[in-house]
Amino acid sequence: MANPTPHIAILPTPGMGHLIPLLEFAKNLLHRHHFSATFIIPTDGPLHTPQKAFLSTLPAGVDHLLLPTVNTEDLPPDVKIETRMSVVIARSLPSIRDAVKSFLEDNSKNLAALVVDLFGTDGIDVALELNVPPYIFFPSTAMALSFFLHLPKLDETVASEYRDVPEKLRVPGCIPIHGKDLLDPLQDRKNDAYKWVLHHSKKYRTAEGIIVNSFKELEPGPIEALQEQESGKPIVYPIGPLIRTGSKPADNSEESVCLKWLDDQPSNSVLYVAFGSGGTLPHDQIIELALGLEMSEVRFLWVLRCANDKSSNATYFSIHNSDDPLAYLPQGFVERTTGRGLVVPSWAPQAGILAHESTCAFLTHCGWNSTLESIVNAVPMIAWPLYAEQKMNAVLLHEDVKVALRPKVGENGLVGRDEIANVVKCLMEGLEGKEIRSRVRYLKDAAANVLSENGSSTRMLAELANKLKRKSSLQVNGKR
Ligand code: UDP
Repeated sequence: MANPTPHIAILPTPGMGHLIPLLEFAKNLLHRHHFSATFIIPTDGPLHTPQKAFLSTLPAGVDHLLLPTVNTEDLPPDVKIETRMSVVIARSLPSIRDAVKSFLEDNSKNLAALVVDLFGTDGIDVALELNVPPYIFFPSTAMALSFFLHLPKLDETVASEYRDVPEKLRVPGCIPIHGKDLLDPLQDRKNDAYKWVLHHSKKYRTAEGIIVNSFKELEPGPIEALQEQESGKPIVYPIGPLIRTGSKPADNSEESVCLKWLDDQPSNSVLYVAFGSGGTLPHDQIIELALGLEMSEVRFLWVLRCANDKSSNATYFSIHNSDDPLAYLPQGFVERTTGRGLVVPSWAPQAGILAHESTCAFLTHCGWNSTLESIVNAVPMIAWPLYAEQKMNAVLLHEDVKVALRPKVGENGLVGRDEIANVVKCLMEGLEGKEIRSRVRYLKDAAANVLSENGSSTRMLAELANKLKRKSSLQVNGKR
């Protein structure tokens, strides 16, 4: 009897930014290499609307399994997202084990791998225990991956907080970076989030391979360093840019309003402003941004979210606003900018917006999916990082890849209205903007090239698929 289709089990940590590229990865294995896949979804509460919508549109060949909800009510209200994600995975391990076992017992599934993402490394233990090859899907930059692999060494050699180290830190292949620009959970070594990230980084070397959503032309230094052979280092597969392919929103939905509004704007004229699925701004920063946009006199489409607390990722798990954000705009702002500005609360069809010909530039929180979506559409960026690894991404985009401008934060911790207006004009109308635009166009072409039939990302994916197929046929023949 022919071997059944090779199957991969995918364990995403919570957050749309993880689900989206993992699905694109699964779809590529499906369409190009005839795999099937199941998402094993850990939860600590009911799913939110965008997650439900996402899961309801999985293509044939990709299933999902919702794991029993784990209780995280004992975590403090200000718990960092990295801790919460890691705890959800750790507490879900018994049901993850049951799920993987059930796939192994299912004759219609030929389990080739368990793919976890950056904070799901405890799942690797389950895979190893059940003799299933463990892989990590790293949904961020090759630079951040290089840092993750290097973190155990940094932890041993640096005594102080990284942000207090006067000189820039050096990691193989990467642009030197100030400790204060490292990822959020590395800013306080006493916090549990730091301990979790260190815990995960130590487990990276136990994976059979690491798949990274990037490509050589975008990050030549980090990718070359990652691919250098070193004993105990898993093979690294750069297969990006994997981005969400825009699905058309339903007519008259809040989302379709954005695209219709863009249809009415002149070509290449609109600044798109959005802070990912979880980014929120404090009220005083919203005021400065609004006034800066107004002063810049450019057209804009702004996805506005705000929260009642001070954190910058207050809606990461819930996505929807905890308050009406429009109420925090300066008085008269909406009226004064009618016709040239549209403010959308909550969620916008970003993939469609960035692909739209009216979109000219993107003020972004530098989430990696957003960044890649911008690059494949040749949209230059204004880097406004908020949390997670976004400051590192901003350094990469501004100083290394040179496809973004980065506004300066004032002494009061806010980016002021004048600075915002200047940076917007500089990018959309100035000479520097032209250079950035030509650089991002080059990367757009490079991205299309690596994804073409013979491109490097296509070949890397094929190499991975062949390896997984070989393993899974050994398993079917009883040699596991
Ligand atoms: N996104 C969207 N509409 C929104 C906000 C976000 O479609 O209003 C999508 C965006 O296109 C991207 C993902 O959500 O694919 C956000 O991922 P990213 O890595 O940029 O940031 P995160 O949300 O993980 O901080």
